[in-house]
Amino acid sequence: MKQFQFLVIVLFLFSCSPAKWATVQDMAKPASLPSGAPHYSDVCFSSRWERPRDESDTLETFQAARNFHATYLNWVYSTNADFIKKANNLGYRMQIALTPTLSDLPFGSNIHKKGRMVNKAGYFVTAPWMKGWDNWWGCVNNPGFQETYFAYIRAALDAGAYGFQVDDPAMGYLLVRNQWEDVCYCQFCQEKADSLGLLPPDIQKASVLEFHQNMKKRAESYAGRPVPFSCNNFRGEWELFPFSFFDFGVAELPERKANPEYIYAILREARRLGKAQVFSFVSDREFLIQKVIATTYACGGNQLAPWDVWQAKSPERYFGKAESFAPYYAFVRANALWLDGYEDAFYATTQDDTRYVDTKQLPVSFEAYTRQVHAFVRARPGDKNAPVVIHIVDWEVLTGEFSILLDERRFFKHGIRSVEMLTPVPFDAAAHAKAEESNDFSNMAAHRLLPFSKSGHSVKVGIPKLDMHWAILVVR
Ligand SMILES: [Zn+2]
Repeated sequence: MKQFQFLVIVLFLFSCSPAKWATVQDMAKPASLPSGAPHYSDVCFSSRWERPRDESDTLETFQAARNFHATYLNWVYSTNADFIKKANNLGYRMQIALTPTLSDLPFGSNIHKKGRMVNKAGYFVTAPWMKGWDNWWGCVNNPGFQETYFAYIRAALDAGAYGFQVDDPAMGYLLVRNQWEDVCYCQFCQEKADSLGLLPPDIQKASVLEFHQNMKKRAESYAGRPVPFSCNNFRGEWELFPFSFFDFGVAELPERKANPEYIYAILREARRLGKAQVFSFVSDREFLIQKVIATTYACGGNQLAPWDVWQAKSPERYFGKAESFAPYYAFVRANALWLDGYEDAFYATTQDDTRYVDTKQLPVSFEAYTRQVHAFVRARPGDKNAPVVIHIVDWEVLTGEFSILLDERRFFKHGIRSVEMLTPVPFDAAAHAKAEESNDFSNMAAHRLLPFSKSGHSVKVGIPKLDMHWAILVVR
C-alpha cells in the first residue's frame, strides 16, 4: 500500500511538473486592447488641423490620409461639423483633441477668458511656453470652463467623432507640480478647498481626475456608447499623473528614445498595464523614421504617419513623403493577419552577450554577433497550432545577410515545417492607389520561403540582406 501511494505521488508530480520548455505560445500572454484603442494593424494618421487651412495651403487631409493608407485619424483640432462628418462617412474613426486652453464659445472665438484659473494675485495663468499668446488655462472646478469643455465634446460627438485625445491632461496640476504657478484661487477652488480644510493648490490633483472622470461619463451617457479618451503621455509613460486614467496614449517619441530596446520595453509595459500606445515621431532622417515605424509595429504599437508633425528644431511642420513611408504602412495593412491577435512572446538581439546568456535555453537566438539586428517574437497566446511570427528589424545601415536560430521545441510539438519571409515592397504610386481603392493590400508584401537546416532541435534560417529594414518571418 505504501509503495502504491509512493507511485501515485511520483506519477502525480510527473504529470504536474511544468514542461521543460515553455512554448512561445505559452510565453505570449492573453491581452485585450483597451476600449477604442487602435488595433495592431491600424494605420494612425494625424492631420492636426483640417487641411487645406487656407487658400495657400496645398495639402488636403483626406488625400494625404489615403496616400498613407490611414484607418484611424488621431489628435485632430476641429470644431467643423462638416469635416468631422466627412471623416465618419469615409469610414475613419476620428479623435478630436481637447486641451486646458480650449477657447470660449462660440466655436472659432479667439478668447480664452471664461472659467480660467487665477493665481493668488488674481491673474490668469498659462504654461511657460505659451507666454504672450493670451491662451489662458481653464479651471477644472469652474462651471464656466466645464461648460466650454463639454460643448466641444458634445459638438464633436454630434458630428460623428469616435473619441478624444487630451493634450496636457494634468491641466492645472501640471502648473502646480512644476511650480510654474500657484493655482487656483478662483471662487470655486477656494470654496472647495475651504470645505476640505485644504489650500487651493492641494486640491488640484484630485479635482483634475474628477474632471476627466466626469467628462468621460457625460460623453458616454450623451453618446450612449463607450467613448475612448486617450492622452498625450509623453514618450509613452504611464506613471505620471493622470496618464493611467486614459484608455490609451498618443504621444511624441523624442529622438533620444528612438531605439529598439526602449520601444520594446515601453510597449511591453503598456500591454502589461492594459494600455495601448500610438507614437508620433519626427526626425530629419528618413531611414530612422522607417526603422521606428517597423519597430513600433513589431512591438505591438502604432506609429502616426510622419505627416503634419511638430519639429523641435524648426518652426515648420514636417510632412513626410508617401514614397518614403507608404510602403511600410501598406505592409502593415497587408499583414493584419500576422499583427492582430498576436502578443509579445520573446525578444532577442544579435548584441546579446553570450558570455552570460546560455542561448541554448532561448527559443530564438543568433549564431554570431553582428551589430543591431533585433527579433521580436509574437504568438497567439495559448494557440498551439497558429503560426508564430518573428519581426526582424535591422537597425544598422545596413547589415548584410545573417542567420537566426530557432529551437523548434519552443514552437510546435511536431517541429518547424516552413519559414516564410514577408518584406515591404518599394513604392509604386499606381500600385498604392489601386490597393487603397480596392482595400486589397496583398501585393504590398513580398513573400519568399526561406531554406533552413536542422541540427538536433536547432533550426538555422538564413536571412538575406533586408533592403527595407523590416521582415516578418511566419513560422509554421
Ligand atoms: Zn479654480
